[in-house]
Amino acid sequence: MQILLTIVAVVFILGLLSTYWPIAFILVGAYGLYRLLRILLKNRYFNSEEFKKHISEISEVVSEHNEITGYVDEIRSSGKFDLGHSETGAQSHLATTTNASNFGYKRDRNVATFGASNVHNTSLQVVRNASAEPIKYLVKYFNVDTSEENLAEIEKLGESISRLENAVSNLKTREQSITIEISPPKFILKHYLKEFQEKVGLSILEVSIPYPSYKFEYVSAGGNSSQVTEVKLNTPTLDALIEYLAEKIKFKKSAAGQRALMTASFREKIKNRDSYTCQICSVSIQDEEHLLLEVDHIKPVSKGGLSIEENLQTLCWKCNRTKSNKE
Ligand SMILES: [Zn+2]
Repeated sequence: MQILLTIVAVVFILGLLSTYWPIAFILVGAYGLYRLLRILLKNRYFNSEEFKKHISEISEVVSEHNEITGYVDEIRSSGKFDLGHSETGAQSHLATTTNASNFGYKRDRNVATFGASNVHNTSLQVVRNASAEPIKYLVKYFNVDTSEENLAEIEKLGESISRLENAVSNLKTREQSITIEISPPKFILKHYLKEFQEKVGLSILEVSIPYPSYKFEYVSAGGNSSQVTEVKLNTPTLDALIEYLAEKIKFKKSAAGQRALMTASFREKIKNRDSYTCQICSVSIQDEEHLLLEVDHIKPVSKGGLSIEENLQTLCWKCNRTKSNKE
C-alpha cells in the first residue's frame, strides 16, 4: 500500500515537472542562493572583530557557567531520584507475553509495562481515581511507607530535585544574559544557535531533570484499550506528598516532631532569613545577580542533623560543594 502511494506521488510530481520545470528550476536555484548567502553572512559575523571582542570580554562569565554545568552533573550523580515501587510487575520477568491480536497494528498494548517497577497495572477505576487523587493513590499503590524514615527519604529526594531545578534554571538565566550581552543578529540565533554557543564556549546541558514518574496503567483484556495516569514527582508534587505523609504520621506529636518539613517554601524562608547571602563567604545576590544559592544542613542529616531552622543555612553553590566534599 505504502509503495503504491509513493509511486503515484512520484509519477504525479514528474508530470508536474515536465510542464513547469522552469519554475521549479528557478525556485530550487533561489533557495540554494539564499542558503549560500546565509552561510556567508554567518561566517562573516563569527569572524568579525566585534564578535571576538565580545567573547574575550565575557570569558569569565562563560567559564563560571560551565563550572555550574559540571556541578549539575555532580548533583545528578550523587542525588537521590527514586522512590517506592509497585509489585504488580515483580515477577514479570518470569513470563513472556506475545500479542496475538489482529488489532495490534498501531498499538502493542497487550505487552503492558509489567516489567517496570514504576508502573502499576490496575483496573480502569483505579487509573481514574489516581488522576483525581494522585498523592493518595501513589502512597497506596506504590507502597510508600508512612514512616518518619521514609518521609525523611522523600525530603531528600525533594532536595535533590529542587537543587537540580535551581541549578538548571540558574544556567538558563546565565545563558540568556550572555546572549543579551553579545546580542548577535537574529538570524544567528534562529539558524545557528548551536554553532553560536560553541563559538562562545558555552557547554550546554543536554540532560533534563530526572523526575521520578509513576504510572497507573489499565490495559483491557483484548489489549485494544488502554488508559494511563502519570504522576510526575516535580517540586509541587513532592511538597504535596511530604505534607500528605506528615499529616498521616502526625509526627508533630512524636519525639522527633520538632522539625520542619523540607518543602520549597521552607527552603525559600531560610534563604530569605539569611538575606540571600552565603553564610561562609558572604557573597550575596546584591553582589552577583545570578548567584546560585542552596540550603545546607549545618550538621548533615547523615550525622543526625535535624531539619530545623537553627541547623539550616544558606550557602552559595561553591561553598556548599566544598563543604559536602569534606563531609
Ligand atoms: Zn559561599
